[in-house]
Amino acid sequence: MIHKPVLLKEVIEYLNPKPGENFIDCTVGEAGHTLAILEKNGPSGKVLGIDWDAKQIENSKALTANFKDRVILVNDSYANLKKIVDENNFNLVNGILLDLGMSSFQLEGSEKGFSFKKDQLLDMRYDDANNDLTAEKIVNEWGREEMEKILEDFGEEKFARQIAKNIVEARKTKRIKTTFQLVEIIEKSIPRRRLQGIHCATRTFQALRIAVNGELDNVTKVLPEAFSILSSGGRLVVISFHSLEDRIVKNFFKNPPSASSGGGGAKILTKSPVTAQDGEMDENPRSRSAKLRAIIKL
Ligand code: SAH
Repeated sequence: MIHKPVLLKEVIEYLNPKPGENFIDCTVGEAGHTLAILEKNGPSGKVLGIDWDAKQIENSKALTANFKDRVILVNDSYANLKKIVDENNFNLVNGILLDLGMSSFQLEGSEKGFSFKKDQLLDMRYDDANNDLTAEKIVNEWGREEMEKILEDFGEEKFARQIAKNIVEARKTKRIKTTFQLVEIIEKSIPRRRLQGIHCATRTFQALRIAVNGELDNVTKVLPEAFSILSSGGRLVVISFHSLEDRIVKNFFKNPPSASSGGGGAKILTKSPVTAQDGEMDENPRSRSAKLRAIIKL
């Protein structure tokens, strides 16, 4: 399975990398965007690439080996962006990219239970070395109300109450360990006539992934840090994959910190979010819900 970077042409257009400029890819993933930036900002421009998943960093080291000291790869959460940048003395940043969520490899090949189409243990952690909270722990140990709340808040799931109730019921007889056990419970919780369109487990799986990784908190934390790190004229490009993330990005762009504190301000480069063309959507399912927003620091 080959990973195709989402909205690649558009990312390059909005980041606009030029020879000698420095960039941060906060979600290096399978290094698709990182590689494209490195092709543009040579011979001396650098990329600081971050990913929370150690395996993604390991793979990216191989992919970017040709670029030698023009690439610095760090295994950490972008929520610690400022600290990472300080520790690596990475200055004069011309652009920052966030391509949120998970990659095709993580969905299809990581065996972490991200996909409801594969029977795997319920894990869903990007960082399985330091994060103790797994999806398995949530479904077996959290109270019904807590579960209902994350299904509603992070999954916008209409049948949150019923699903949470049935999870609590099911785990009385047997611990819920696998994705397929969970899918079966979800299928029973949603009225048959509603089982159309997106897969009935989509929203629950999204909610669990967001909860396990604290994704909305991470995005909320990184945006002001990223903006403050940018040089004047630098660009921040964010690709989000669901309305909750996009709302956070949109609201931040409307009122970035330097604007509210009377600083130099910023200009939004995307009046409405940029989405993939039909051709890309056919080729790359991950692009279907992608929304790109970009801002320039003045
Ligand atoms: N742009 C990449 C794909 C990125 S997929 C490419 O072209 O290949 C999103 C990546 O973000 C995943 O690899 C995931 O592990 C990573 N990620 C998710 N949350 C993160 C966080 N808080 N900090 C750093 N990386 C994170």
